[in-house]
Amino acid sequence: MNSTLAAPLSEIAHYYLTQVDVSSLNIFEKAWMSWYMWWDNPVLATGLMSFIMHEVVYFGRCVPWIIIDAMPYFRRWKLQPTKVPTAKDQWECTKLVLFSHFTVELPQIWLFHPIAEYLGMATYQLPFPGWKTMAWQIALFFMFEDAFHFVAHQALHYGPLYRNIHKIHHKYSAPFGLAAEYAHPAEVLILGTGTIGGPLLYCWFTRDLHIFTMYAWIVLRLFQAVDSHSGYDFPWSLNKFFPLWSGADHHDFHHMAFTNNYSTSFRYLDHIFGTDKKYHAYKARLRAAAAKDREALNQKLMAETEKEGQEAERIAEQSGYFGSKIAAKVQ
Ligand SMILES: [Zn+2]
Ligand SMILES: [Zn+2]
Repeated sequence: MNSTLAAPLSEIAHYYLTQVDVSSLNIFEKAWMSWYMWWDNPVLATGLMSFIMHEVVYFGRCVPWIIIDAMPYFRRWKLQPTKVPTAKDQWECTKLVLFSHFTVELPQIWLFHPIAEYLGMATYQLPFPGWKTMAWQIALFFMFEDAFHFVAHQALHYGPLYRNIHKIHHKYSAPFGLAAEYAHPAEVLILGTGTIGGPLLYCWFTRDLHIFTMYAWIVLRLFQAVDSHSGYDFPWSLNKFFPLWSGADHHDFHHMAFTNNYSTSFRYLDHIFGTDKKYHAYKARLRAAAAKDREALNQKLMAETEKEGQEAERIAEQSGYFGSKIAAKVQ
């Protein structure tokens, strides 16, 4: 046979030739196949694709918010309208985010393929899973991440962890899109576990997950993270149609008040555990006010809430191990 004279086929090429009916693949699956064939090195192909996807989606999603911040027309929907980020704020934020992407996330993304393979996750394999399978797996990852974040985020508000790690993310009491990943590298690592931990655990138990589903989940999670930091609550925001969804309205309050609203995607855990009482009291006072007084009241409440938030931050920062507070002693 002639093939004995040719160079041996790589594992990937051999797989596509023998296991895949290429004529039945759609355009995205063909592109996927070409990508893996081109690199002919799954670790490199997966690592590069993950990194590029993360950068393109994260910064791509931030661009509309930067434009919106620059247009006074949109100020009417800004949750804290007097606090619009300056170009300098946006640039400072971009620099730290890029630094953390290249130093913390790049190596992690590179390690991902070996871990995924070890857990039996499909990577270069085709075809992609059906949309129904993807939809319920992604719903599960959303719920897992939300619960993980709810617990880990509260832990990060605990004295030593707050002082050394989470304080960086709270630099902005009125966040903006780019600030979503403005955080200490350790925070990126801790909270990132909630994002990739769900798919990895799921894969560990079921051995039935395609990395394409995980990418789709990460894209949605990035949208959620950037949007919840955007600082805008529109009449068409998702939380207006899906009341369990947190949205910017929920997370913006966390940055302003420092306490309350620890979840990411959903509102139900904060509701069940009573960590949204201050938020609801704030909203109730606004609703109870006459329409003509609402704007002035909102300004007053925002100033009060932020002042209380600064005090809560001071106490959290000075609290010691096991919750013992030394704030009273430290003036
Ligand atoms: Zn926080
Ligand atoms: Zn935040």
